[in-house]
Amino acid sequence: MTTLALEGSLPVDDRAPARVERADPSRVRVGEIYRSIQGESSWAGLPCTFVRLIGCNLRCSWCDSAFAFHGGESLAVEEVLRRVEDLGVRLVEVTGGEPLWQAGCLTVLRELCDRKYTVLLETGGSLDISRVDERVHRIVDLKAPGSGMERRNLWSNVGHLTPRDEVKFVLASRADYEWARSVIRKHRLEARTRVLLSTVFGSVEAREVVEWMLADGLQARFQIQLHKLVWDPAARGV
Ligand code: SF4
Repeated sequence: MTTLALEGSLPVDDRAPARVERADPSRVRVGEIYRSIQGESSWAGLPCTFVRLIGCNLRCSWCDSAFAFHGGESLAVEEVLRRVEDLGVRLVEVTGGEPLWQAGCLTVLRELCDRKYTVLLETGGSLDISRVDERVHRIVDLKAPGSGMERRNLWSNVGHLTPRDEVKFVLASRADYEWARSVIRKHRLEARTRVLLSTVFGSVEAREVVEWMLADGLQARFQIQLHKLVWDPAARGV
């Protein structure tokens, strides 16, 4: 996604969060905080405030969030909470980039839960989710081969998934689908958590994936990135 300056957007510079900055639990580098609708997951369609943290340890071949690799503004956690409160929505997603790359992400998540928000975390699946507050709904990617990041999947995360979480496969080809199917069956993901299948925008046809899924009897939820239908696919801050 690229930027539309909507309410709550923040200015950017060209810095990525340095190691020492990423280790500070009291601050986070933020790219944007904005109000929109949830475009993915089983929460799709609901009003949601997004807190986008800057920086990512991965480089997926089809990434649509490269604008979140650098820049942003270093904010105290209290300031993040204040801006979220100003937007007035009770559903909040912390996303990136890779939000868990910054230690302060755990603090933001915990504080949001303490304030009785419904909290979602979207993570790329390469970093440990076990220290995330148990009140958070974790939406965890498993990177298929087409992403170029398959070897970065942290498989121990699968053991931490619960029915309140979701696991997401983004598919760029039939080969990616077959990989996802084998992972779902091997780890019995359908019994463990909610399973989401989606396509790389402009890549494999949605209809094809749905037909494969039905033919195989996968108990997964197919999803389309709703925000890319509502707004221009390249729009940011939406
Ligand atoms: S994990 Fe997400 S933000 Fe990072 S490179 Fe992959 S798609 Fe982009």
